[in-house]
Amino acid sequence: MILTGRVHPGESNSSFVMEGLLQFLLSEDSVAKTLRDRFVFKIVPMLNPDGVIVGNYRCSLSSHDLNRQYPNPSSKLFPECFAVKQMIRKTLECRKIELYCDFHGHSRQKDIFMYGCSQVIPGQLQSDKQLRERVFPMMYDQVCSNASYAGSAFSVTKSKESTGRVVMWREFSLNNSYTCEASFCGPSQGICKGFHFSIKMLLDMGRDFCRTLALYSEVDASYYKQILTEIQYDFNKAQGETATRGHDGQDGAQGTEKGGRFGGKSGQGKASKASKAGAGKEKGGFGNDHLKGLLSVTSKS
Ligand SMILES: [Zn+2]
Repeated sequence: MILTGRVHPGESNSSFVMEGLLQFLLSEDSVAKTLRDRFVFKIVPMLNPDGVIVGNYRCSLSSHDLNRQYPNPSSKLFPECFAVKQMIRKTLECRKIELYCDFHGHSRQKDIFMYGCSQVIPGQLQSDKQLRERVFPMMYDQVCSNASYAGSAFSVTKSKESTGRVVMWREFSLNNSYTCEASFCGPSQGICKGFHFSIKMLLDMGRDFCRTLALYSEVDASYYKQILTEIQYDFNKAQGETATRGHDGQDGAQGTEKGGRFGGKSGQGKASKASKAGAGKEKGGFGNDHLKGLLSVTSKS
């Protein structure tokens, strides 16, 4: 597991998520112990300490956005990116990397959500392999009350080609390569809708990320298939919605396609709620009993 955070100094909420993650992972909780037994975690909690210290919003002292330097990072100007890539390269020499995730803060969209990479072809039936990277974000949605699969997106746009997420996916063939974005605002639904996230809520998102990792590593083949079927349903529904609504040009990204059943950024919050209500599956509804069972198993093990 390769986890990094705070490459953008102004996104302090990502540090709280990372803190919650570390607190849980280092705790005596039985799920945390299981995770430590099962995986090697390589974590860089703060990729841009110089930018944080001088109060930059996005750049390091080099005056560059580090999350645009991953394709060929200079060891002198961008030693952080250079070192992370070296670490991944070395790790792959002796073991598989199950997941890479870089934690960020998002200034506009609500909830905590994920970006993945696969470039699927609109209108075509997608293989399980192409949809597999959506399993973890879908499970995170079910485990974490403020996580949104509907708000997640899986695409590679021109402006994101040199980010950690895309470069690790392309260069090292990491299937589960994500950016995780915690909103600067708050949740799009629930009793805290309209309020900002509290620090505790951000810490809990980090804890729940770990709990999702535990579940992800436990699911059996039939449950995995069940999740893929749900993802396929969401995908097909999103494609249908996109076809009738036309291209969403909000971020100028042709082919940008959201994780949720209704896809697209326009009307996202509304669509996200409608999708869950429409299928009668509220937060924690999909596979709820099974997830609860797995949680109790991991808690005891
Ligand atoms: Zn960021």
